Amino acid sequence: MVILKGKKNCSGCHACFNICPAKAIEMQSDEEGFLYPAISLNKCIQCNQCENVCPVLHKPSTFSMDLVFGCFAENKEDRMSSSSGGVFAVLARKILTVGGIVCGAALNDNLEVEHIIVDNEKELKRIKGTKYVQSRIGDTFQKLKQQLNTGRKVLFSGTPCQVAGLKKYLGKEYENLLCVDLICHGVPSPEVWKRYLMELSGKNEVENVFFRKKQENNNITMMEYYFSNGEIKKEVYGESPYIKGFIQNLYVRPSCFECQFKGTKRCSDITIGDFWSIKEYHPDFSDDYGTSAVIIHSEKGKQWFEKCNGSMAIVKATTKEVACWNECLLQSTKYNSQREVFFEQWKDKSIAEVVLELSAKLQETKPQNEKKPLFSKLKCFVENKIR
Ligand SMILES: Cc1cc2nc3c(=O)[nH]c(=O)nc-3n(C[C@H](O)[C@H](O)[C@H](O)COP(=O)(O)OP(=O)(O)OC[C@H]3O[C@@H](n4cnc5c(N)ncnc54)[C@H](O)[C@@H]3O)c2cc1C
Repeated sequence: MVILKGKKNCSGCHACFNICPAKAIEMQSDEEGFLYPAISLNKCIQCNQCENVCPVLHKPSTFSMDLVFGCFAENKEDRMSSSSGGVFAVLARKILTVGGIVCGAALNDNLEVEHIIVDNEKELKRIKGTKYVQSRIGDTFQKLKQQLNTGRKVLFSGTPCQVAGLKKYLGKEYENLLCVDLICHGVPSPEVWKRYLMELSGKNEVENVFFRKKQENNNITMMEYYFSNGEIKKEVYGESPYIKGFIQNLYVRPSCFECQFKGTKRCSDITIGDFWSIKEYHPDFSDDYGTSAVIIHSEKGKQWFEKCNGSMAIVKATTKEVACWNECLLQSTKYNSQREVFFEQWKDKSIAEVVLELSAKLQETKPQNEKKPLFSKLKCFVENKIR
């Protein structure tokens, strides 16, 4: 038994799993590797709390301030170790300095992506940097509620559906909670990620990964893998088969094609993302080390952003500027009909093999005038217009 009919509706936010008083809900992986709630009927007490907290069935209320900026962290280390302009790190540190805690996505020892809670600078490093895999929430919402009830300041960061799930689970506004969501393309399957890593590991295992590592001496962003024998493999970000398959939507979650949490009115306090069009609109502001787009939705978000002013370079911008090159701010990513072929073929071939074959096929079958928009994001990376 599942809560929502049809996989295209469930984002896997874990709100139902966290609220269930009878522990009747388990998050189970499907054949594509995405987690969905399964209710054990003999444990279920029919309280309906799972349905009531579902952010797809009952939308959380939203804010609509819409203050937009381009920003980057003045601290070079923060900026270099972040995917965009490092705004997340600046906000997170502000929360830590007042004794708060920060929750976000991190790689665990098995290189799976999961949400963790940290209270110090050293551990914060694990949350910094983007991980292009759906993050597992687990029982994080329950732990955050306990902390919020003690009055502790909490920063929660994640995809828009995860923030919506947390807010529905909590059921009321907490003054001590700051929610930061991402502009989100869609989340790739954890199982595809696991398989891709296994295929890269020969005798030597992959022990650490950076999805988007900025290089000091040139403008190219790399995906970097660190092996147990000390070797490092680097792939130009846009040329990595894993990233190609992700951007072409071969293995993002079904619900991402009909995402319910897009737009400029959000339940988060602040939305952050890549300001890919910064050079076009603010050529004097931009350099090659990454700029974050920041969209402030609530008064609380504005206050925390203002507290961080001294640590960031900031330029006023508009939603239209951010959305140019970044359509995922406003609309869901497009379904790729080759997705089914991917999940048929990955049983027999390596991930890289299937992705490269399907990418080539996709290029061949697209009419000339459609090739550019489809690969615009990738093309941007390759030409180093964006980081
Ligand atoms: C799956 C995914 C798709 C994205 N798609 C887009 C896009 O289309 N356009 C765009 O502008 N930006 C996108 N982003 C956001 C972008 O990659 C950066 O994460 C964002 O700009 C923040 O950058 P930063 O330099 O401030 O912080 P960074 O230090 O680079 O990022 C850290 C932040 O990202 C969060 N995070 C990292 N991985 C995950 C994850 N798997 N699930 C949930 N939260 C995560 C952390 O919790 C933390 O809040 C996407 C991110 C993810 C994870």
